[in-house]
Amino acid sequence: MGITNSSVGKKAASGFEIKKTDEKTFTVALAGNPNVGKSTVFNALTGMNQHTGNWPGKTVSNAVGYCSTKKRSYMFVDIPGTYSLMAHSAEEEIARNYICFGSPDAVVVVCDATCLERNMNLVLQTMEISKNVIVCINLMDEANRKGIKINIGMLSQRLGVSVIGVTASKKKSLSVLLSALDNLESGNYYKIDYPEPVEKAVNIIEKNIPEEVKKKINPRWMSLRLIDSDLSLESEIDKHSGGFAENAELCLAVSKAKAILDKSGFYPEKVCDAVASSLLSKAHEICSGAVEIKESYSKTDRRFDKILTSRLTGYPVMILMLIMIFWLTVTGANYPSQLLSDFLFGIQDKLSELFYALNSPQWLHDCLVLGVYRVLAWVISVMLPPMAIFFPLFSLLEDSGYLPRVAYNLDKPFRLCNACGKQALTMCMGFGCNAAGVVGCRIIDSPRERLLAILTNSLVPCNGKFPTLITIITVFFIGTSSGLFSSVASAAALTAVIVLGVLMTFAATKLLSETVLKGVPSSFTLELPPYRKPKIAETLVRSIFDRALFVLGRAAAVAAPAGLIIWLLANISTGDSNILGILSDFLDPFARLMGLDGVILIAFILGFPANEIVIPIMLMAYFSLGSLPDLGTSAEIGALLIENGWTKATALCMILFSLMHWPCSTTLITVKKETGSIKYTLLAAALPTLMGVIACMITAEFCRVTGFC
Ligand code: GDP
Repeated sequence: MGITNSSVGKKAASGFEIKKTDEKTFTVALAGNPNVGKSTVFNALTGMNQHTGNWPGKTVSNAVGYCSTKKRSYMFVDIPGTYSLMAHSAEEEIARNYICFGSPDAVVVVCDATCLERNMNLVLQTMEISKNVIVCINLMDEANRKGIKINIGMLSQRLGVSVIGVTASKKKSLSVLLSALDNLESGNYYKIDYPEPVEKAVNIIEKNIPEEVKKKINPRWMSLRLIDSDLSLESEIDKHSGGFAENAELCLAVSKAKAILDKSGFYPEKVCDAVASSLLSKAHEICSGAVEIKESYSKTDRRFDKILTSRLTGYPVMILMLIMIFWLTVTGANYPSQLLSDFLFGIQDKLSELFYALNSPQWLHDCLVLGVYRVLAWVISVMLPPMAIFFPLFSLLEDSGYLPRVAYNLDKPFRLCNACGKQALTMCMGFGCNAAGVVGCRIIDSPRERLLAILTNSLVPCNGKFPTLITIITVFFIGTSSGLFSSVASAAALTAVIVLGVLMTFAATKLLSETVLKGVPSSFTLELPPYRKPKIAETLVRSIFDRALFVLGRAAAVAAPAGLIIWLLANISTGDSNILGILSDFLDPFARLMGLDGVILIAFILGFPANEIVIPIMLMAYFSLGSLPDLGTSAEIGALLIENGWTKATALCMILFSLMHWPCSTTLITVKKETGSIKYTLLAAALPTLMGVIACMITAEFCRVTGFC
C-alpha cells in the first residue's frame, strides 16, 4: 500500500472546530490514553513532526495532518490523550468534545499492548458514541519483549470492530491501519449493560429524544449522560441536540429517570460509580483469555520502582541523576564550545574583510559585524554544545519512563503546598524552556493548581540560564582548571542551584496557595507508565532538531536585534559616557543594595528577550568597548570580572538573581496566552523578581556583616 504524506504545517486547533479541506476527505480522530504512541502513529502517517515523549498529557491541542491511500484522502486529528470520555481536565474536554461532537468519519483508538485492559475503558466508551471505530493496539514490540500475548482475532470478535496490532515506531507496520480504514464499514453503537435502575432510567429518557437528534447522537449514550451529572457535558449535549433544556417532555423524562434512580439509592453519586464499574468489568471480560501476561513483566518494573520511588532512595537517586546530567553537559560542552567560538569568530574576520572590500562605511561594519554578528556568534557557541548534550540526556530520561517517577516522588511536597503532583512534570519541562513548561501546565486539571504551576514555572532555571550559571560557578567557586574534580564540583554546584530553584518553587507555590490562590489540592491519579528502553539514535536526532535547534533558533532570533540595540546603546554617547554607561550608573545605587552593580542589572534588563545574552551584554558594558569583547576562556572572563570589582559575594548574588528574576519575554507572552490575564502575567513577572531582590539583599547584607565571601 502506498502511503503519501503531505505536510501542511502543524495546525493546532482547540475544541472540535476542525473543518475538512473538502467533502471527500475522510476525517480520522486518533484517540487514546496518554503515552500510548498516538503522536508516533500520527507522525508516521502524516509525516508531521509532533514532539513525542514519554509523559502523560503532551498533546495539549488537536493537531491536524494529511495522508492518502489509493482509495481516499485522510485527515488525521491527533487529539489529547485521555483515559475516559468523562472529562476532568481541559485537555480531556478537548478530546471528549471532538470524539463526541466533532463528527469524525472514524475514530482510531490507539492502545498500549502492554496494559490493554486499562486502555479498554476508553475503547468501550468511544464505541458507545461512535459507530466507526478501529482499535489499534500499538507497542506490540514491547508486548512481545515482555512476553505478553494478545489474541487480536478474539478481541475483534468480542468487540465487533476491526482490531489491529502495530508497532508505530516501524512505519511500515502502519499499512494495516490504513487498509483497515480503507475497508471500514459502519457498525452499531456498542451496548454495555448497566445495573437495572440505570437501564430503566435510560429507557425513559431515550423514548423522549427527538428523532432528528437520534440521527446525530446515540440516544442511549445521551440518556446516560443526562443522568450522570456531568455538567460540562450536559451543556455540550444541549448545544448539539438543538437545546434539550427547552424540550419540556424530555426534561420531564429526565426528572422521572432521576426520581427512579433516587428511589433505588443510585442518584446522584452512585450513577457514576455504577457506570464506571460496569465499564471496568466489561473491559475485564473482553480481555480475559485474549490477553496473556507473563508475571515477570510487572515484577521487573516493580523492582525498579522500589529503588527509584522509595522514600529512602528516591531522592538521592534523583539528585545523583541530575549531577550526572550536568557533569556530562559541563565537561562535554567545553571543547566543542571553544571550537565553535574559534570557528565563528574566524568567520567574523572574513566578514570584516568583505565589508572593507565593499568599501562599506565604518559604522555599518561596526553595527552589523561587531554588534549583531558578535552577539549571535557568542550565543551560538555558548549555547549550542550544552544544549546538544542536555536535551538528548533529558529526552532519554523522558523516554525511559523515569520522569513520571520524578513527579511521583515530588507529589507529596507539592501536595503539602496545596498544589498538584503533576506540577513536578511541568517544572521538569521548565528546565528545557520555561515557555514550554507554561504550555505544559495544561495537563493540570484544576484551574487553581494550573495557575500555581504557571506562575512558579520560571523559578527553575531554563536552558538559557545554564551558560550564565556555569560560567559564574566555574570562575568563582570551582576554579577554571580542567580535571575530573572541578568538573564534578561544577556539576554538583549547578545541581545545588537547581535544587534551590525547586525549593523556591515550593516556597512560592505555598505562598500563593495561602494567599491569592487559596484552596485544597485536588485528587488525581498519576500514571506510572511502564519502563521502556529508549531509542538512543532517534532520541538524539529528535531532541537536537526538535528542541536544541528550535530553542537556539529562537534565542538567535532575539539575540540578533538585541545585539544591534545593545551596540547602539554602547556607541551612542552624550558627553564622555555612552547610553549603556549612563543607564548603568543610574541603576548602580539600587543594584549595590542587592550585592550587584549597575552593569549587571542593566544586563538583566536588556536580556529580557533571552536570558542567554545577559553575560555578553555585561561584558560589553564593563569594557565600554562598544562591542562584545573577544573572550575565549572562562579564566579570561573571571580575571576581567575581578578587575571590575567582582567578589565571591557578587557572584553569589548574580547566581541568585539569575535564578530568580522576571521570566524572558517569550515566557511572559505564553503566560498571557495561557491565563488570558494581564494581572496574572504581571504576577508571574513580579513574584520571582521580588523573591530574587529579597534573596540578593539578604545575601549581600550577610556577606557584608560577616565578611563571608
Ligand atoms: P502519545 O502520548 O500517545 O502521543 O505517545 P507518543 O507518540 O509520544 O509515544 C510515547 C513513547 O512511546 C515515545 O517514547 C515513543 O517513542 C514510544 N513509542 C511509540 N510507539 C512505539 C512502538 O511501537 N514501540 C516502541 N518500542 N516505542 C514506541
